[in-house]
Amino acid sequence: MRVGQGYDVHRLTEGRKLILGGVEVPFDKGLLGHSDADVLVHAVMDALLGAGALGDIGQHFPDTDPAYEGISSIELLRRVGALLEEKGYVVENIDATIIAQRPKMAPYRPAMVRNIARALKLSEDRVSVKATTEEGLGFTGSGQGIASWAITLLTSPTDYCYDYKMEADRCSGCCHGESQRHGAVNNQVEEEDHEDL
Ligand code: MG
Repeated sequence: MRVGQGYDVHRLTEGRKLILGGVEVPFDKGLLGHSDADVLVHAVMDALLGAGALGDIGQHFPDTDPAYEGISSIELLRRVGALLEEKGYVVENIDATIIAQRPKMAPYRPAMVRNIARALKLSEDRVSVKATTEEGLGFTGSGQGIASWAITLLTSPTDYCYDYKMEADRCSGCCHGESQRHGAVNNQVEEEDHEDL
């Protein structure tokens, strides 16, 4: 299993649409950025890339590249999902939090979950989007910007092959012999613990 966390902030400004989780949220300001500035999806992507030790979104989608100007972050999330699939990772779950004083996010959360789940080919019960204010404090409280946190858990088939990391040339975890040897080591440790009692 591999855990990843992501964090992102974008400045609120006039004359931009507010896009969060691929949803256009009605508001008098939007987030400033090279892409659609979807701060929620950016945090999710960084969590996924982090869990896979695959760098960050700045490395994969640089904001100096005109190809990403105004691009939908949900489309970038699809690409991150494809990369994880290529590396053999399975997304177990995602839990994300939007931090904003305004607007109210509750009506739009189901659509955000749906968009993120679809982009990653996940069932919706594996994706959680929450929202909170910071009680008027800091840059989110003053309405200068919106922040997001995300955390994710990835698994891969090698998680089910106990001795994979110990036996670089073959898999013996699911078979006989090696797993029994490790079982014996564990028993020995337990016995030593017993003596301490
Ligand atoms: Mg960003």
